[in-house]
This record gives sequence, C-alpha cells and structure tokens, in this order.
Amino acid sequence: MNNLEIKNLTKTYKHKNANEDINLNLDSGVYGLLGPNGAGKSTFMKQLATITTPSSGKILYNGKDIKSLDDEYRDLIGYLPQDFDAYKNFKAKEFLMYMAALKGLKKDEAKKRVEELLKLVGLYEVRNKLVSKFSGGMKRRVGIAQALINNPKILILDEPTAGLDPQERARFRNLLSNIGTETIVILSTHIISDIESAAKETIMIKDGKLLLKGTHKEILESM
Ligand code: ADP
Ligand code: ADP
Repeated sequence: MNNLEIKNLTKTYKHKNANEDINLNLDSGVYGLLGPNGAGKSTFMKQLATITTPSSGKILYNGKDIKSLDDEYRDLIGYLPQDFDAYKNFKAKEFLMYMAALKGLKKDEAKKRVEELLKLVGLYEVRNKLVSKFSGGMKRRVGIAQALINNPKILILDEPTAGLDPQERARFRNLLSNIGTETIVILSTHIISDIESAAKETIMIKDGKLLLKGTHKEILESM
C-alpha cells in the first residue's frame, strides 16, 4: 500500500489562506500539479515534504498521520524544492555522496545508488566535474538525482522543468517515465506538455483551493 490522504488541509499565512480545505487521495503514480503563480502549489508541496506544517487539517500516509510517523515518513520522501541549489563547490558525484550520507545510506550502498542515479539522469560522464560549471538543466538533474537517492515512496518535485529548454524538458519526460510505478510522484509545472503523457492525473489548484482532479481527458472536457 502506498497512499496519501490529504484531509481539509489549510495553511494560513498572515490571515491569507495559501491552501484552503484541500482534500485529496493519492495512490502510486504521477500527478501533475497545475495552477497559476501564487495558487499555493509550493505551499502544498512543502507540507507534504514536512518543510512546513498545516495550519489545520492533516495528511495521512497509509492511514496514519504523518505527524505521528515523523522520521518514518520523512525517510520515504524525496523532495526537489523550487529554489534548489546544489552546493556549487562540490563535484556532482561528491554532492550526491554527501546527500546519500545525510539520508543515512551506508557507504557501499551509497556508491552503488549514486552511480545508478548519475546514469539515470545522464550525468555519469561529468560526475567528477564541479556543479558550478553545469548548465541550468544539468543542475536541475542533480536536484532530481538527490531527490531520488533514498528510493522514495513519495517524490515531490516543485517545478522541475522551470527555465529548461525543450531538449532538457524532453529529457525530463523520459526520466519521469523511468521512475518506479510504486512511487507517488507529485510535480508542479506551468507546462502542460510536461505531464500530459506521464501523469495519470492532473490536480489543479487556484487561490489555494482544489479546482479539479482528473485524467488529462477529464480536465480537457471540463474546460
Ligand atoms: P512562485 O514562484 O511559486 O510564485 P512565490 O513567489 O509565491 O513562488 O514564493 C516564493 C517563495 O517565497 C515561497 O516558497 C515562500 O516561501 C516565499 N514567500 C512567498 N511569499 C511570501 C511572503 N508574502 N512572505 C514571506 N515569504 C514569502
Ligand atoms: P505557487 O507555488 O502556486 O506559486 P505558493 O504556495 O508559493 O504558490 O504561494 C501561495 C500564496 O502564499 C502566495 O500568495 C504567497 O505569497 C503566499 N506565501 C507562500 N509562502 C509564504 C510564506 N512563507 N509567508 C507568507 N506568505 C507566503
């Protein structure tokens, strides 16, 4: 079982609801999160990633409140924040080894996993180059790799394709199709084509509220 249940989720910043009474039930698969700037996408994802706590409502993982699961839940998450910045003075492999250590992987396990991920995101050839010398797209791929280090059951990607050129976006779509089907993947984007083939469902939010959740076809029909 791999299930997230979001119940009456509300997050208030200074009297303004960034998220308001959101109810969702998510199983394994890719979910695209769409909505205009300021809709509350990052706020929603930060709560799932336990970066910030809900003002009211709750999030259940397999029926248990993530607050009570604590580290047990955190260990299952991979998160790419919107403002992700790899430590620039690290080489790609060094950085991922460092992140693997933070996530508690043993050295041998870390080496194997990091090598796998460098290949998956197409950075194996440049693994010993400084991240500071990478293009924006390559840096983002480092970010995606670090989010995948612990084989997350829940993968949260906040605008993973923002600012990427079409070639990098195509690479991302391909990457997405290679992420395990046993994972709940939630990714926000402004670009519908990023998700129309990969996402099993699209979630639309506006002014902090859930507007729609459905397949791409259902969303189009409702417009
Ligand atoms: P987006 O690019 O998704 O529209 P925003 O510009 O709304 O993001 O916010 C970027 C980040 O800045 C947010 O993740 C949030 O943590 C922070 N932020 C946004 N608005 C405020 C605010 N009014 N006060 C403090 N921090 C804010
Ligand atoms: P999105 O990711 O869809 O652009 P956000 O979740 O970043 O939207 O922001 C939703 C609303 O909450 C915005 O009005 C933003 O300014 C506000 N907000 C986000 N983070 C903060 C924060 N840390 N403090 C105050 N207001 C915030």
